[in-house]
Amino acid sequence: MKVLVINTGSSSLKYQLIDMTNESVLAKGVCDRIGLEHSFLKHSKVGSDTVVIEKDLYNHKIAVQEVLSALTDSKTGVIKSMDEISAVGHRIVHGGEKFKESVIIDKKVMDAVKECIELAPLHNPSNIVGIEACQQIMPNIPMVAVFDTAFHQTMPSQAYIYALPYELYEKYRLRKYGFHGTSHKYVAYRAAEMLGKPIEELKLVTCHLGNGASVCAVKNGKSIETSMGFTPLQGLCMGTRSGSIDPDIISFLMKKEKMTISDISDFLNKKSGVLGVSGVSSDFRDVQAAAEAGNDRAMLALDIFCYRVKRFIGDYIGLMNGADAVIFTAGIGENNGLIREKVVSDMDFLGIKIDPEKNTVIGKEIDISAADAKVKTLVVPTNEELAIARETIKLLK
Ligand code: ADP
Repeated sequence: MKVLVINTGSSSLKYQLIDMTNESVLAKGVCDRIGLEHSFLKHSKVGSDTVVIEKDLYNHKIAVQEVLSALTDSKTGVIKSMDEISAVGHRIVHGGEKFKESVIIDKKVMDAVKECIELAPLHNPSNIVGIEACQQIMPNIPMVAVFDTAFHQTMPSQAYIYALPYELYEKYRLRKYGFHGTSHKYVAYRAAEMLGKPIEELKLVTCHLGNGASVCAVKNGKSIETSMGFTPLQGLCMGTRSGSIDPDIISFLMKKEKMTISDISDFLNKKSGVLGVSGVSSDFRDVQAAAEAGNDRAMLALDIFCYRVKRFIGDYIGLMNGADAVIFTAGIGENNGLIREKVVSDMDFLGIKIDPEKNTVIGKEIDISAADAKVKTLVVPTNEELAIARETIKLLK
C-alpha cells in the first residue's frame, strides 16, 4: 500500500510517497512559488539525485499534476500510474473542536474544515485548496485529514478555557487549541517504545523545538496541556514569534509607536522572538555562531529561549506530579546539543540529568540521560509525514 502525504501552504506543496508495507519513503519533494514567477518542483526519488524542474505552477491543481507526473515519469518516477496510490493523507492545521482525531474526507468534513477557517485564516485555506486539487485529479482515491490540533483535544477545560468572559468561548470558540499535535503524539509513542513501557502508564514532556516551538504534557498517552494557544503565537519564545507576553504591551505599543492591529500581529509573529532579541537571525545556527563570537544580544536570545522551555518542563512535571521522560524533537531539539544542555541544566532536583558525551549526538534517536537520572531525557526525531501516513492507513482499514 502506497500513501501520498500532502502538506500544502499558501505557495508551496510538500509531498512524500510512502510504501506502508515497510514504511519506506519512495520519493519526496516540494512545489514552491505556486502562483508566483519562477515556480519550480524539487523532486527526490530515494537513491537518486534531487531534480529541480522549472514549471509554471499557476495554481495548486497544476502543482498536484506535476507531482504525479514526477512520481510516474520513467526517469524520476517510482510508480507506473497513480492507480498505485492507495490513499492520500493531508495535513490540516486547524480542526477546531470538531475534530478530535483524523477522519476520512467527505463533503461534511470539508464543510467543517471550512468552518475552521476563521480560527486559522493563514493556514486552513491553503490546506483546503490542496485537498480540492487532489480530489479533482484523483477523484477515486480516498483522502484522509490529519489535524495539528486533534491530539490536544483531550486537554481538560481548566487547561483550555482562558480567564476571559465565558460568553466569548461560547460565541467564538475562543480557547486554547494547541498545535504540533501530530509531532507531539508521534514522539510520545516512540518514546514509550524506547522506554519499553505502555504509553498508558507514562508521564512525558515533549518539546517540539523548531522555527515554531511548543511543549506538551502527555499523561497516559493523552495531551493534558500544551504551550501554544488559540493561535501558534502563545507560549515559548520562537524563531520570529514573541510567545506569551503581557497582553497590555499591545495597547502600550499601539499608543507609543502608533501601530495598528495588523502591525502588532506582524510584529509579534514575524519580528520578535530570537530574531527580535538578537537582531541577528531567526535561525539558531546563525544566532549561536554570533553568540560564540561574543554578541551579547545573541547570547541573551538563546538564554531567553532555553529559560522558557525550562519553565514549561518544570510546570508540566508539576502538573503531572512527576515525569518518566523529557523528549526533544524538531530542528533544534534534534540537532542542537547546546540548547538541550542549557534547557535541562540544574534540573537534577527534579531527577533530570544528561550525559554530556551522549548529548553530542545529533539528529538521531538516543537516550541522553546520565546513568543516575530518575527522569530520562530522550532525543526522538519527529516524522510527521509517517505519522500522517499511518493515520491514513489506520482509517482505511
Ligand atoms: P520548522 O518549524 O520550520 O519545521 P525546523 O524544525 O526545521 O523548523 O527547525 C528549524 C531550526 O532548527 C533552525 O533554527 C535551525 O537552526 C535548526 N536546525 C535545523 N537543522 C539543524 C542542524 N542540522 N543543526 C543544527 N540546527 C539545526
